[in-house]
Amino acid sequence: MSWLTPADVADHTGHHVVTVYRALESGQLHGHQPRRGARWRIAEPVADAWVTGLPQTDACGCTTTLARGRKTA
Ligand SMILES: [Zn+2]
Repeated sequence: MSWLTPADVADHTGHHVVTVYRALESGQLHGHQPRRGARWRIAEPVADAWVTGLPQTDACGCTTTLARGRKTA
């Protein structure tokens, strides 16, 4: 599994990096952050899943429920 930074996701998807951060903060983009203010990391397949609308948790392969604001499994 390779991990992307928000900047990598921005490059990968063509979104602005600010859009990536907003999506992470709002839970629209499935990312991992060890603690608030720490660096986000996003599993590489999740960037594609975000763009195509596929289930991001499946793409990530993790079974962890995100701490904040996640509505869909
Ligand atoms: Zn995950």
